[in-house]
Amino acid sequence: MSSTKEQYATTYYKEPGPKLDKESPFESMMERFRFAAEILNLDEGMFQYLASPVKQVIVSIPVVMDDGRIEVFEGYRVIHDNVLGPSKGGIRYAPDVNLDEVKALASWMTWKCAVVNVPFGGAKGGVRVDPKKLSYSELERLTRRYTANLLEVFGPDRDIPAPDMNTNEQIMAWIMDTYSMNSLRTETAVVTGKPIILGGSQGRKEATGRGVVTVTLAALSKLGIMPNRANVAVQGFGNVGSVSAELMYEQGAKVVAVSDISGGYFNKKGLDIPEMISYMRNNSNTLEGYADAEKLTNEELLEIDCDVLIPAAKEDQISRHNAENIKAKIISEGANGPVTANADAILEKNGIMVIPDILANAGGVTVSYFEWVQDRQGYFWTEERVNRRLNRMMRTAFDNLYKVSEEYNITLRQAAYVYAINKVAATLKMRGIYA
Ligand code: NAD
Repeated sequence: MSSTKEQYATTYYKEPGPKLDKESPFESMMERFRFAAEILNLDEGMFQYLASPVKQVIVSIPVVMDDGRIEVFEGYRVIHDNVLGPSKGGIRYAPDVNLDEVKALASWMTWKCAVVNVPFGGAKGGVRVDPKKLSYSELERLTRRYTANLLEVFGPDRDIPAPDMNTNEQIMAWIMDTYSMNSLRTETAVVTGKPIILGGSQGRKEATGRGVVTVTLAALSKLGIMPNRANVAVQGFGNVGSVSAELMYEQGAKVVAVSDISGGYFNKKGLDIPEMISYMRNNSNTLEGYADAEKLTNEELLEIDCDVLIPAAKEDQISRHNAENIKAKIISEGANGPVTANADAILEKNGIMVIPDILANAGGVTVSYFEWVQDRQGYFWTEERVNRRLNRMMRTAFDNLYKVSEEYNITLRQAAYVYAINKVAATLKMRGIYA
């Protein structure tokens, strides 16, 4: 270990954040952040600046329940950074949400926005609640009071929430309405992921999967593989996985395996993805019982012989325990954190190109940016225009990172962090520190 590295490890990064497993997505992200900071020779002050959130807010949210009792929930909003512009990031409702998790996810958003060149900083929010235990009207009151408590944080020019785990279009609509009522005008641009009739964008729902496919095609072309000669496996068949599988299928690729929580489905001649999507929609959103394929486990799916593997289900799927068995040439991270930092080196050694999550699944935040732009213009684009601009931004981001990876002889993941940190640090240097 070089002395610089030791310095970073011991001096620069004093607050290790959440006490999570070594292979947790946050620890993995911090390891990659430290590595990139070292490549960039970032000075200590800058490192500390970028490792610390700008603002962390905890609010108590009293809610009058349907039976008349008052229950108090805890809510969070963390702004990691706002150097590039207003901060952006989702709000999650879950019983185990905590400040450390929200802090980690907020910094993740900073790097993601910087990688795709949207003029946003990073943020994240959460409420510690099990939304399944709340009635519809309790959920509405909780959302409105959480918003009311954060009126000074949110704003189209300040901080712009979006949906995340267990939050949806309706919750975004309530946030927009509460904020608008308090500012005495309709402010659609204060949140993204809204229903289309409230100023949402065409193409937003498919945006993440579409972005995954754009960068996957760019990677295939670097390896000289035609899409119609590529074999693809997709883990997860929800929003991101099913759209990715369908668009790869439309490109002529052979999607040989897909999976969901019910397990994996394999056909070496290629699966009929449109048929599987309609099967799932008519079957309570699960592939359970789909008969026109061989069954696999989710673990087996990850290890099948294919050109492209798209993990689009959950974090920590490829770790040091199975990385050696991965046969894909390209891993395109639809999910957040599906590959652990410990697996990175093994995949690199085996020559597998990993398109990192902060690029691969950034199509969602890119179209969120388009939604915000359209709301502010009061002029709405066709789906065709949204998709064209999304493809362009994702393709440019891929090319930028590819160039950095060649320049420094590093992986695409390392290049993504180098690019993002360099961009935020350079902007901060120009702006200077306000005193
Ligand atoms: P989703 O809930 O729509 O779908 C998740 C899918 O994964 C489902 O098919 C589910 O059955 C499957 N699944 C769950 N556990 C599994 C397991 N153990 N093994 C295999 N499959 C399993 O979720 P989504 O919106 O598609 O998100 C998937 C991932 O992509 C998450 O990591 C999410 O954070 C990330 N992501 C989503 C978006 C977005 O816009 N939706 C944007 C960026 C990142």
